[in-house]
Amino acid sequence: MASDKTDALILGGGFAGLVCAVCLAEKGRKVLVLEKKTHRGGRAYSFEENGLDIDNGQHLFMGCYRATRRFLKTIGTQDRLEIYEDMIVDYIEPGGKKDRLDCPSWLPAPYHLAAGLLGLKGVSLKEKTALFAFDLALKAMKVGPIPQDVEKMTVRGWLSSLDISRNFQNRFFDPAAIGILNERPEIASSAGFIQALREIFFSDRGSSKFALAKTGLSDLYADAARDFIEKREGRVISTAKAVGLIEEGGRVVGVKTDMDSRFTADHIVSTLPPWELKKLDLPAALHGPWEDLAPAPIIGVTLLLDRPVMSERFVGLLNAQTHWVFNRSRIMGLPGPGQVLSVVISGAHEQIGRLPEKIRQTVVGDLSACLPGFSLAKIVRWKVVKEPFATLSPTPGSEAKRPEPGTGMPGFSFAGDWTRTGLPATIESACVSGYAAASRA
Ligand SMILES: Cc1cc2nc3c(=O)[nH]c(=O)nc-3n(C[C@H](O)[C@H](O)[C@H](O)COP(=O)(O)OP(=O)(O)OC[C@H]3O[C@@H](n4cnc5c(N)ncnc54)[C@H](O)[C@@H]3O)c2cc1C
Repeated sequence: MASDKTDALILGGGFAGLVCAVCLAEKGRKVLVLEKKTHRGGRAYSFEENGLDIDNGQHLFMGCYRATRRFLKTIGTQDRLEIYEDMIVDYIEPGGKKDRLDCPSWLPAPYHLAAGLLGLKGVSLKEKTALFAFDLALKAMKVGPIPQDVEKMTVRGWLSSLDISRNFQNRFFDPAAIGILNERPEIASSAGFIQALREIFFSDRGSSKFALAKTGLSDLYADAARDFIEKREGRVISTAKAVGLIEEGGRVVGVKTDMDSRFTADHIVSTLPPWELKKLDLPAALHGPWEDLAPAPIIGVTLLLDRPVMSERFVGLLNAQTHWVFNRSRIMGLPGPGQVLSVVISGAHEQIGRLPEKIRQTVVGDLSACLPGFSLAKIVRWKVVKEPFATLSPTPGSEAKRPEPGTGMPGFSFAGDWTRTGLPATIESACVSGYAAASRA
């Protein structure tokens, strides 16, 4: 049995793990990252297939992703993330009818959102009067934990309690909620939605800017973070699967792997998602309600077309199974004459069990109905990536089960997007948790 000792041992090589390792390496600590997979990056990664650069699913970043941007700056890749000045979202529905949320950049937050919402064509003035109640409700929860009675409500229940019409919900709130929470408004707790809305729209104007990677996801952070760590005498070991934690005298002192190796460290941080962490042989003190947290699926479909069918960076599809279509050719500056689209189905409980060909047919049906010109285009190549364990399913009651990042037991800290960062389980939450765990290690 091999054995190895280091200052800090981090389980998982996704955003949370790499942020934690980079932060500690920067402080001169000797770090070791153990990652079970071979691919570069955790749940946000990219790969090449038949000449196509494919993300496991298109990831949208926001101006309010401050911890993420701090991390990218530290590893020197911040210029691979493009932050857009305008705050425009185009929506298209079957039949080709369009709407646009255009939040003027010269107005301070949250008035820029109010102006954008007032400009939506598909929502009547009478329906828009509900925005007063929405504004008051959010201002009452501007900081701090979301009150329990609100957290127990679903997004649908909370919005309806504010008299926001189903049409208004369908045209703005539902696409936003499903995009942020990766769960349908009937299933998701209002807590994560409120946390995100106040971060995005109620802090400063820059927070609501959209940002997208100009490279594949792994190139955005995974390689550069690894280089950063290795240059400071740290190590990132792939295909090293942790199977248990070693406890001595009430303290976690090490990790066992499936290769029968033991790694010891002064401090161990797990960034494993809850459904992975609970498979490990854990000290009794670490068991808890977090083990009940469940995942929600996402499906990403990449299409290479023989011609362009959209000019926008991305569009939201209304009244369709497909939620978002991203124009990767424009985002990444890919040469023509064809066009690469990246299509997202969030909260994809119904579709995740279907065969890739069936999923392709669903997407093609939605795009043909919504994007004029799509039916004329030929699909040259396509790839479906199913992520059944994409994010935490933020159902009512789940917030209380998320452990605080950086807490655990002596010698051990929880981290990862799913820990209680005050944010929905996103990249930013992962990065916030990585910094929190590093400050304790
Ligand atoms: C398709 C898709 C689209 C998404 N879209 C967005 C988006 O638009 N915006 C956004 O902000 N977020 C999005 N997310 C969520 C985002 O990807 C995650 O929040 C983030 O990547 C989580 O990072 P993490 O480090 O917490 O976890 P992970 O990335 O899951 O890292 C944990 C790592 O631990 C490894 N591991 C597991 N078990 C073991 C073991 N036993 N031993 C060793 N290693 C192990 C895993 O392989 C993994 O690499 C999306 C996720 C998916 C899947």
